[in-house]
Amino acid sequence: MKATVLYGPRDVRFEERPTPKIEKPTDAVIRIAATCVCGSDLWPYRGLQPVNEPTPMGHEYCGIVEEVGSAVRSVKPGQFVIGSFAASDITCPHCRAGYQTSCANREWMLRAQAPVLRVPLADGTLVPTPGNPPADLIPSLLTTSDVLGTGWFAAAAAGVQPGQTVAVVGDGAVGLMGVLSAKQMGAERIIVMSRHATRQQLAREFGATDIVTERGDEGVARIKDLTQGVGVDSVLECVGTQESMLQSIRCTRPGGAMGYVGVPHGVELDGVELFFSHVHLHGGPAPVRQYLPHLIDLVWNRKINPGKVFDLTLPLEQVAEGYRAMDERRAIKTLLWP
Ligand SMILES: [Zn+2]
Repeated sequence: MKATVLYGPRDVRFEERPTPKIEKPTDAVIRIAATCVCGSDLWPYRGLQPVNEPTPMGHEYCGIVEEVGSAVRSVKPGQFVIGSFAASDITCPHCRAGYQTSCANREWMLRAQAPVLRVPLADGTLVPTPGNPPADLIPSLLTTSDVLGTGWFAAAAAGVQPGQTVAVVGDGAVGLMGVLSAKQMGAERIIVMSRHATRQQLAREFGATDIVTERGDEGVARIKDLTQGVGVDSVLECVGTQESMLQSIRCTRPGGAMGYVGVPHGVELDGVELFFSHVHLHGGPAPVRQYLPHLIDLVWNRKINPGKVFDLTLPLEQVAEGYRAMDERRAIKTLLWP
């Protein structure tokens, strides 16, 4: 088969690779229905994270089970399934506590920007859909694998409750999914920090009520203005830079909470400032597996349409253009059809 391999900064190739096979009795092999490019793929693509050897890419996936290992019980060939970007057993103490991305047997998924994928710990990792989905639902189902699950965790970690005022820092795909999630959780007012007209428009479609274009201290001041000087109840931090983390903490009211899902790059927080902020902090790699059944249900019953976040669709062999378009911010998120 041909699959996606990153050789170094801005060097994505679509080249011949061995077709995955069952390696362990707990594996499944699936035929990918759709995959996509993640914002986190751009860190190594931009050279901000070292690539020491040709690296197969992709960790968002859904598709049809082709084959299962002898120990797999909960999925079978022919089923349409979705899994998280981290394989997990869902039986260890961390999984049972709802933190499957900290599974004692965790394996990070790679190699999903391909037509065929091996999924370890298939019983724990994969969730079947109620049936074979109609084609128009596949993009939305794909989002549950990472981008929607991560936005959902940001809102859950920030403790979003009905009637609250919420701020979302970051207008990338995860931030936009955070808006949708906060809306689903009943937030009354959702303030998005964004400077891009197309992203602002999509944020409004997903439930944003206010847009703030200022950043840093000016952005904090603007949010304070919008909340009578109080600050927001919950903030979803979906970027991972020093500026975005500080902005998030500083616009949250005392006793409020921040859910942070942007992978931190060069972030250092001051203990004294944190101490006096009275802000709850919770974040990390989203335990998407925990939310998959609920999110699949919302998509399946057409209560949400997160697939709108894909504003570029390409055949998988044009994956390099998919990365380029996101790197140059010509696209929010690229969907790839094998
Ligand atoms: Zn586990």
